[in-house]
Amino acid sequence: MNAAFSQFYKRTPEQRLAILAKTLGLSETEQQELQQRADQGDAPLLIENYLTTYQLPEGVAVNFLVNQHEYVVPMVTEEPSVIAAASNGAKQLAQAGGITATVRSRLLTGQVVLSDVRVYASIDDWVALHQNELLEVARQAHPSIVKRGGGPQTIRTRDLGEGFVSIDLTVDVQSAMGANMMNTMLEAIADVIQNKLHHTTLFSILSNAGDQSLATATVSIPVGQLANDFDDAKRVAKRIEQASRIAQLDSMRAVTHNKGIMNGVDAVVLAMGNDWRAIESAAHAFAVTDGQYRGLSQWHLTDNQLTGTLTLPLPIGVVGGATKVLPLVAINQKIAQIKSPEELMMLIVAVGLAQNFAALKALVTSGIQQGHMKMQMRSLAMSVGATAVETPALTQQLMKLSDPNEAQATQLLNQIREKQGE
Ligand code: NDP
Repeated sequence: MNAAFSQFYKRTPEQRLAILAKTLGLSETEQQELQQRADQGDAPLLIENYLTTYQLPEGVAVNFLVNQHEYVVPMVTEEPSVIAAASNGAKQLAQAGGITATVRSRLLTGQVVLSDVRVYASIDDWVALHQNELLEVARQAHPSIVKRGGGPQTIRTRDLGEGFVSIDLTVDVQSAMGANMMNTMLEAIADVIQNKLHHTTLFSILSNAGDQSLATATVSIPVGQLANDFDDAKRVAKRIEQASRIAQLDSMRAVTHNKGIMNGVDAVVLAMGNDWRAIESAAHAFAVTDGQYRGLSQWHLTDNQLTGTLTLPLPIGVVGGATKVLPLVAINQKIAQIKSPEELMMLIVAVGLAQNFAALKALVTSGIQQGHMKMQMRSLAMSVGATAVETPALTQQLMKLSDPNEAQATQLLNQIREKQGE
């Protein structure tokens, strides 16, 4: 290990930068870039070994009609086409009457895992006999959530095989995501297991499965809305249904189908200060519930109506965690007019459905590239160094070429600059 990194966590961001510059040869410009973006506020306290703040663009998707309520949706993403596709998809779904969203349940599950269990029934019986006492221990470990109307709900055991047993606790976490309060409760239960049952526990932690925090979005589109000509519209609807079916049959396609859904979901989750890794893990585990990885949404054509449904595990929070620390989150909650965690869950799953609809429609009609072309050309222009003033003109010129590359973009940018200099 390089001695320069010893006690690195005790250094100030400036000292860390100086060490990195010296050991890794960062240029003056690179150092300035890192320093300029460094935050003087809370960010250095949020993570270990803070260096700078890596920014991502935030935009808003519009046209969302969910449960007859209009939403403007903050989205944080680096992918050029995501917000345009979400807004476009949402507009078409609003024309069809809007998205209906529901929340089935909102509970968090956690596990105390025991190893080297010889007789599962002995643990199962003990937990069943002491369940009220264990729930009370969990309540006492975080009494404030009980005062808020939530708290521990159920406790049960599962035999995981190979001598492992999971004691599962479910908690009503109210408006929080609940990871920390859950972990506190689980550790209190683990202490009781060790002291009274005299069985050592392997670990105690929440589960990110989120399968007790499910939200569903549905929409029904009159087929005639999908194209000017009714036969064309019916063909589009049929092709969307088939594309969705392929994601049920083929996991190779399902991964891409779900990635498109998560393009929108992650962007909102991030804007709302929630843990997007938790939501990603939960979504992909949910996609493989029956043993095969499948598309999370489904589209069906019946009686000239194309109906789409998406269910997602969304164990998110509107208080606690990073929601308090990241200054933009409160503003984003205000932009989206979010009043409860259930409302945020419904909005996120609706965004996933609109994103999915936009992607599938583009995919089975004009192809994904055509819709993305302008954004891609803009990205290409920026990647070769076009300024904010030069980018629109260069983007226009690139769109006239069939498959422009970096060399052509650079050449065109030089021509624009030469003309400006004349
Ligand atoms: P916090 O630890 O911030 O807990 C939520 C806080 O919000 C509580 O302290 C609670 O106060 C307060 N609160 C205020 N109003 C309410 C309300 N109406 N309902 C519920 N709580 C309220 O956050 P979480 O426990 O939610 O944990 C989320 C964080 O944990 C995330 O940052 C996540 O990244 C991280 N994490 C995730 C893990 C994972 O996903 N595997 C593992 C560990 C951490 P009071 O105490 O007074 O009740």
